[in-house]
Amino acid sequence: MKNSAAISLHIPPRMWSEFQKNMLNSRMFNEEVIGFLFCQRHQVSKYQVRYFPKTWVVPSPDCYEHQSASGLVLKQHFHSYLLEYHLQPGLDIVHIHTHAGRGIPDFSYVDDRYESEYARFIAASFSKKPRLISGVFDEGLQSGKFRVWDRKGQKFEHVNFCNSLFELSNYQNAMNNTDLMFARQKIFGSANQKILHQLKVGLIGCGGIGSIFAELLGRLGVKNWVLIDPDKLETVNLNRMPGATQEMVEQQWYKVHYVKHLIKKIYHEGSCVKTIATAVETELSKQEIATCDLIVVATDNHLSRKTAQELALQYMRPLVCLGTYIDVKLDNTPRMYCRVTVPPLGGGWCLMCGNIINLQRAALESAPLEINNMAAGAGYLEGVNNPAVFWLNSICASTGVGVIHGMVSGFLNVDSGIDWIYEFPGNDWRKTNTEYLQTDDCYFCGVKGLDEVVANSDFENSNFI
Ligand SMILES: [Zn+2]
Ligand SMILES: [Zn+2]
Repeated sequence: MKNSAAISLHIPPRMWSEFQKNMLNSRMFNEEVIGFLFCQRHQVSKYQVRYFPKTWVVPSPDCYEHQSASGLVLKQHFHSYLLEYHLQPGLDIVHIHTHAGRGIPDFSYVDDRYESEYARFIAASFSKKPRLISGVFDEGLQSGKFRVWDRKGQKFEHVNFCNSLFELSNYQNAMNNTDLMFARQKIFGSANQKILHQLKVGLIGCGGIGSIFAELLGRLGVKNWVLIDPDKLETVNLNRMPGATQEMVEQQWYKVHYVKHLIKKIYHEGSCVKTIATAVETELSKQEIATCDLIVVATDNHLSRKTAQELALQYMRPLVCLGTYIDVKLDNTPRMYCRVTVPPLGGGWCLMCGNIINLQRAALESAPLEINNMAAGAGYLEGVNNPAVFWLNSICASTGVGVIHGMVSGFLNVDSGIDWIYEFPGNDWRKTNTEYLQTDDCYFCGVKGLDEVVANSDFENSNFI
């Protein structure tokens, strides 16, 4: 038996619906249509490979040489343009075409022959030897299937398609008997409970918010964790970390080990917790975060949020950002805030756009300690002495867990992202209109962000074949 890795193609919900819409609009009647995605390949582990799009292109009707219900041919120079402008080195090509009718169609004999040739052609024509993934869908783009070709165009393997937030399947049902623990959550559905059990969460920051968050999400059913935090427990933390003790402080526990301890208290067996007691900027942390289905950042500094956002965009993983802030007005009354932010998966706006990352601060935080101390002295940085209370952190962490529960169960739509800010004592939740968060000049999601292109024939004056 060949022991090959499971291969998946992950197109996030909003992008997939845009792509579908453009595909359906690019025909007059029920002609076949084709669309392209240029995808990054990520070898998550020995057993898992995932592809996710960096750009996509749907040709308009005038890009076709021939387009009918029984077949299609793109104009040669359009095709050259496509490869020249969108196939960045290292990306692989996905093409999706439709067949007339409903239900999952089969690849035709013509598809086999054409794709085999095409797989060989692109592998031979570009230095990074891109691979071909092909998909065939029904005319309504509702059901379809994918396969990936080898570079010789001789063999192909099945590719799982995922167009939801998480790439988890609920076909594995390792646990049916420990369900009693979750009996009171049954109302949300056993499929969702299984997704929670499989979900691997990367938690950056295991302090006052992160620890409560882990306790809550752990109790909800999440068993697989990567914990990242370079700090050790200190006495000043004990006002806000559930179950933390003076003994742990004296024994110099790292915060990651303390949070692991919380998870292990929930699950005597069946949980998997990896601890990394370094900053998220280290290579090891980044590699581990890339394997997580969801990234949660609960730190009080801009550099780690910037890194988390970069990783989320680079590996196309959902990101949840949690933070609190307390200050005191001139008349001595305190103002307290917490903020829960989920940028849209696959780009659109990000933590930078949302002003949750301040790049100057991130730069200062990456500077040597002396500069940091100077900056702190000059009032540029909030130090570790930021005011913080358990109950406010709990509101933040609880809401973050509720948002994730909603993402998994589908009762909360985060396709356009969310940014909620809670204010106390006013006791108001304010929801940022995320349309305002989209900016063109953003360092993360501006120029370098995802291209969404409906191509047409206006490229005649460029130099192609
Ligand atoms: Zn076909
Ligand atoms: Zn941005």
